[in-house]
Amino acid sequence: MYTAKTGHGGPVFATGLDDQAKARLTMLEELRAGLGRDELVLHYQPKVTVEPVPRVHGVEALVRWQHPERGLIYPDTFLYTAESADLMGRITALVLELAIRQAREWHAEGLEISVAVNLSVSDLRDPGFPDQIAELLHRYALPTSALELEVTESVLMTDAEQALSVLGALRAMGIRLAVDDYGTGYSSLSYLQKLPVDDLKLDRAFVSRCATDERSAAIVQSTVQLAHSLGMRIVAEGVEDSEIFARLQEYGCDLAQGYGILRPQSAAVVTDWLRSQTSAMAA
Ligand code: C2E
Ligand code: MG
Ligand code: MG
Ligand code: MG
Repeated sequence: MYTAKTGHGGPVFATGLDDQAKARLTMLEELRAGLGRDELVLHYQPKVTVEPVPRVHGVEALVRWQHPERGLIYPDTFLYTAESADLMGRITALVLELAIRQAREWHAEGLEISVAVNLSVSDLRDPGFPDQIAELLHRYALPTSALELEVTESVLMTDAEQALSVLGALRAMGIRLAVDDYGTGYSSLSYLQKLPVDDLKLDRAFVSRCATDERSAAIVQSTVQLAHSLGMRIVAEGVEDSEIFARLQEYGCDLAQGYGILRPQSAAVVTDWLRSQTSAMAA
């Protein structure tokens, strides 16, 4: 009321919104152009087994936008906008193809690891999605066991019926499914009851503190037990140091991922790392 009388409050607010909308439109235009210019690239982060000794299990593909002027842009900055503008289908298709092609190269040199791809809400709304994946795996002559798919709790909660049927089809093909960022969403227990998933990826909010905070430790330990009682594997995200890793060994966690093992890196860097791990194991 008060600002309205001065004649300034309204316009300032409107200009702010206008700027945001403009920034969003600019980002969208640049993203569309960037998609056509192959500016989206993948970094990879390893997942290693926790017991009895750390061994490479696979990698997760994480998308980045290599912008010609703005540099490397992280997914949290552009995926939301992409999703709201219906660009996510194109991005997922691209990420899948790049990741599967890279996995083929690794398999060809004897590095038979799995590659995990993150999905978004729109992917699970598309009934043709499982066929699209089957076609890609066939084209690159890769077994379905080489692909893992990660979905967050929020993805699972919208459009539950459709999502369940797409997930069921993917799993029937032999693809492992993981719930990502577990513990940070809402109806965790009710969907654990019915979802066709293989892995729980416990969010780093709990894992990164489990060596220093007893509550976090209790949550990690009991989630390991919960996952195992449900016949699921548990993956700890956010393993930032060896103390956390030691805790995970103690709790019987299956797989671990985090900066303390390796930060997400380009395919070239990760390939060198994978080779060094394999030769270390052979030695
Ligand atoms: P996410 O799938 O849960 O991936 C893990 C995120 O945590 C990654 O951030 C990774 O770099 C970061 N991280 C890994 N280890 C550590 C650690 O030890 N400490 C800390 N502080 N962080 C760690 P990133 O790459 O920025 O990705 C953020 C999110 O964007 C991902 O979370 C995923 O939800 C989404 N995303 C990434 N790539 C794709 C994609 O290709 N498609 C879709 N739909 N979503 C993607
Ligand atoms: Mg993920
Ligand atoms: Mg996660
Ligand atoms: Mg996340």
